[in-house]
Amino acid sequence: MHLIDKTFEPFISEEKILQQVKRVAQEINHDYTHLNPLFVGVLNGAFMFAADLLKNVTIPSEVTFIKVKSYEGIQSKGQVSNLIGLETPAEGRHIVILEDIVDSGHTIQHLLKMLQEQHPASIHIATLLFKPQSLQTDVQVKYVGFEIPPQFMVGYGLDYNGQGRNLRDIYRLKT
Ligand code: 5GP
Ligand code: MG
Repeated sequence: MHLIDKTFEPFISEEKILQQVKRVAQEINHDYTHLNPLFVGVLNGAFMFAADLLKNVTIPSEVTFIKVKSYEGIQSKGQVSNLIGLETPAEGRHIVILEDIVDSGHTIQHLLKMLQEQHPASIHIATLLFKPQSLQTDVQVKYVGFEIPPQFMVGYGLDYNGQGRNLRDIYRLKT
């Protein structure tokens, strides 16, 4: 599979993705039954994960989105800018951040800091993909779809310079 100037190979099928997304949703249903959690999806990458996860969430809850930016091309810059802030008040709420992928952890650390300022009752992270070997921060990720090696992925919301977000499966960069 080609995007712009790079070649990618299939890595996780849509079927396996949906299985794990459902499993994560069931864990959240169990842990947050009477807490009316506020899901905060991180745009753009987490839009598919958020949609499929929320379809499997059966407890009272709300969802909102924020937009941040950290990647240009295939390398993390380790700096994060805020593009759209949180619209729903987070004070006293049980927040579950929905991320597509935790790589260095800088993005999630920035988000945690930003959301902590609003005094939520609790904050936890749910990520579809987690690269434990790339982590440069001490953030705790509570819900993980898949642990993956430190390689560049596209598809299911993840892009390469804007391309590939629409793909149903996840692909990794061929080297
Ligand atoms: P971190 O701040 O943890 O290094 O990076 C997190 C953000 O970088 C993710 O939300 C995602 O947007 C982007 N990112 C990290 N790894 C990958 C990857 O393998 N593929 C793509 N497409 N984006 C990634
Ligand atoms: Mg992202």
